[in-house]
Amino acid sequence: MPSIAIDGPSGAGKSTVSIQVADRLHMIHLDSGAMYRAVGMYMARQGADLQNAADVAARADSVPLTLTFENGQRVRLDGEDVTDELAKYSYTASQVSKVPQVREKINQILRSIARDMGVVVDGRDIGTTVLPQANLKIYLTADPAARARRRYLELVGRGMEADEAQVLRDIIQRDYEDTHRAVSPLAKAPDAVEVDCTHIDKDGVVAEILRLARRAGL
Ligand code: C5P
Repeated sequence: MPSIAIDGPSGAGKSTVSIQVADRLHMIHLDSGAMYRAVGMYMARQGADLQNAADVAARADSVPLTLTFENGQRVRLDGEDVTDELAKYSYTASQVSKVPQVREKINQILRSIARDMGVVVDGRDIGTTVLPQANLKIYLTADPAARARRRYLELVGRGMEADEAQVLRDIIQRDYEDTHRAVSPLAKAPDAVEVDCTHIDKDGVVAEILRLARRAGL
């Protein structure tokens, strides 16, 4: 089935843009970051030692992670909808995402859905590793300060407390970890189109991706 991969660093607005693109093209949006967050949340709840890759690896296969689609993707742990709690698990997600067994578990779920349905998948390694055959690959990026500002406004908008300078430090730290990890690091696929949204708003980015999608025959 047709697929669009939207990769890029934290806070570039991948999820918001992907939701709108999927909606316009009547495709399903898959948010892979939310799945890493849910795995991290589950392991933290189970008392796993997240610094210990062997411990995380041994638990990866038994994480009871499922997705449902009701007004967008909902992430479930053992049937419980945890989607609205995932915002605070950024760092946890980035820790468990270094472990190949966790990546394999999530990749299997993503690929099996993409076999049956048209999907717009956002993440870090979708175009390079998960769906290398995607019909369109976008690498969505922006300056760290612009991304920190957006993420800060998003957190505040959800009623959470946030400190913009701290959000920026976290983004820089996660960029470093995501681009330097050994397995499936964040990288632009050679055939991806880079879209820099530092100075373009969300609607402009969506319009540009829809234009590229039409050109790709989607
Ligand atoms: O996109 P989001 O900020 O929700 O992702 C949370 C974390 O999950 C990222 O910092 C990254 O470490 C990890 N991730 C990943 N591969 C993906 C999506 C997310 O490693 N495809």
